[in-house]
Amino acid sequence: MPFIHDILKKHWGFSSFRPLQEDIINCVLSGKDALALMPTGGGKSLCYQVPALANDGLCLVISPLIALMKDQVENLRKKNITAFAIWSGMSRKEVINTLKVAGESNCKFLYVSPERLETSLFKEYLPGLNINLVAVDEAHCISQWGYDFRPPYLRIAALRHELSGIPFLALTASATPEVQKDIIDKLEFGEHHIFRQSFERPALSYSVYKVQSRINKITEVLQQVPGSSIVYCKSRRRTKEISDLLQLQDISALHYHAGLPQDERSNRQEAWIAGKVRVIVCTNAFGMGIDKPDVRTVIHADAPDCLENYYQEAGRAGRDGKKAYAVLLYDETDLDMLEEKEALRFPSLREIKEVYQSVANYLQVPAGGGQGQYYDFDMSDFLVKFKLPVHTVLYSLKALEQDGWLSFNEQVFLPATVSFTISKNGLHDFELKHPALENCIKSLLRAYGGIFDQAVPVSEKAIAAMMRTDADTVIKQLLLLHQAGVIDYRPQKDSPQLYFNASRVRTEELTINMEAYNKRKEQYRRRLKQMLEYINEKKACRSQHIGAYFGDNNLQPCGICDNCLRKKDTPLTKEEFDLLHRQIINILNDEPVPVKKLLAGLGGINKEKAWQVIEFLQAENKIKVDKNGAVSL
Ligand code: ADP
Ligand code: MG
Repeated sequence: MPFIHDILKKHWGFSSFRPLQEDIINCVLSGKDALALMPTGGGKSLCYQVPALANDGLCLVISPLIALMKDQVENLRKKNITAFAIWSGMSRKEVINTLKVAGESNCKFLYVSPERLETSLFKEYLPGLNINLVAVDEAHCISQWGYDFRPPYLRIAALRHELSGIPFLALTASATPEVQKDIIDKLEFGEHHIFRQSFERPALSYSVYKVQSRINKITEVLQQVPGSSIVYCKSRRRTKEISDLLQLQDISALHYHAGLPQDERSNRQEAWIAGKVRVIVCTNAFGMGIDKPDVRTVIHADAPDCLENYYQEAGRAGRDGKKAYAVLLYDETDLDMLEEKEALRFPSLREIKEVYQSVANYLQVPAGGGQGQYYDFDMSDFLVKFKLPVHTVLYSLKALEQDGWLSFNEQVFLPATVSFTISKNGLHDFELKHPALENCIKSLLRAYGGIFDQAVPVSEKAIAAMMRTDADTVIKQLLLLHQAGVIDYRPQKDSPQLYFNASRVRTEELTINMEAYNKRKEQYRRRLKQMLEYINEKKACRSQHIGAYFGDNNLQPCGICDNCLRKKDTPLTKEEFDLLHRQIINILNDEPVPVKKLLAGLGGINKEKAWQVIEFLQAENKIKVDKNGAVSL
């Protein structure tokens, strides 16, 4: 169908689809449901964006990550495609307004975070939206048995009944066969296809090392393999420690975690993406939505607690298809820790109740109140005041969240809002007395219709542009206007928020579905066990091991992971080694050569044997592989 190629070319400027994209697009265009499993960065968004543009009407996109949602909407708008978003933090009025505008404009994409799928509201407005496709991003979140269950995802099923005949496309980067089945059940798929991109990463070498000193091994890897790197750590404190140690060795590094202020986080991320900093040492808060092709190493200083996370994080290495390394480090005590994690991760009902009560007291939520409200939640202050262990609190909140009581979200984004609180006459007098603030007032009135009657989300940056000044000045002036009683100004918040889905009950009345809770605990234990099996795997190919975990049993041994390389130690004879060695040196004599070309240059030689020699020469510093994957002497 040349038609979808035209759309791809016209809006994105790409001349061809990536593997599976075209099949997925054609499937949903033919009206069938589809489940797409593609790695992060594989190009899932195009799979719903192209068919949505091919048809009349709009595509409803359900996505849990507000930051990514905002990026997507901005990117579409830059292409002159109308898109809106509804996220947690917006008032009901704003939601209704957005739904109305979406129905009346030529809107093509409506992004909604799942907790905003209020059935009654959507029931009312859905018919007017002319929905042509429903895309469910991060679809594994719908499964209780997955590693990232989010109860609001279950609301999507209710939509299905309102939208009969409209195809659903579920997208995820990683789901075990059990979770795949659960997605299909929960979304009540009709006739459908499952598209699964191969888990094969031919140029990504996995390895696992037991170490005495993490920092020594990390330094060693970074010295052997040039180019950008991500080092994942289990704690915020550790990110700083390791990045300090790397800096001491003159390796350019920065640490990153969710506890840093927002602008500091974006600065560090940008510095790393631009290659101004070589290594980013981070918690798993880093990496979402980052599309950097030339990462040469992803090193895990600590083992993650499931293979889903490991595969996604490790997979950020070598997106450009050139040689890259995924290295996992552990020491003996880690393995015990992983097992202890389970007790930490699933607090007792008594602990959950205690946390619920303490949080409600801290936030002063009265019994019977709080439903549908957001509260600023300063975790560190709370921990100090109530003397509770941080893990108990975090995971009790998670349990309460998964049972539908509340949600704790570090990512809630509440835009700044302004409403006028002065009469029109009063405003006139005020302007006469305070000419310095007049421009700011005029800009507000000009840019935001309805601002006199209700609170309207505003952007300080946009106002600054209108006033030809900077955002800081605007914020100062808005605060002055607020103090003078002219406006009610609520600055933007990206502080963590606690949202009460249900009104506060007395602690005795708090119930948790223990059967489901225990089953999630059991699944968690299973995932941990499988992570340990991966770590302890000394024989099977690591790539095959990962593929099998996700239900892909068709992988060939990769030939480049630690286990494959170890196995190959024997079959390579001394003569073969010498011959290959000479040939490689010959080829590299003139100029650096990309790995692929080097392999081709070795003729019909067994690829695994060639790799073994390349690895050996590299380890001996006889040849170098640079950050672009080119090999030289
Ligand atoms: P995912 O959601 O699977 O993580 P994205 O949809 O965010 O991935 O896409 C990742 C990147 O790949 C984006 O920069 C996108 O523009 C790019 N991309 C997607 N499809 C193609 C294609 N057919 N040709 C070139 N680039 C593509
Ligand atoms: Mg995506």
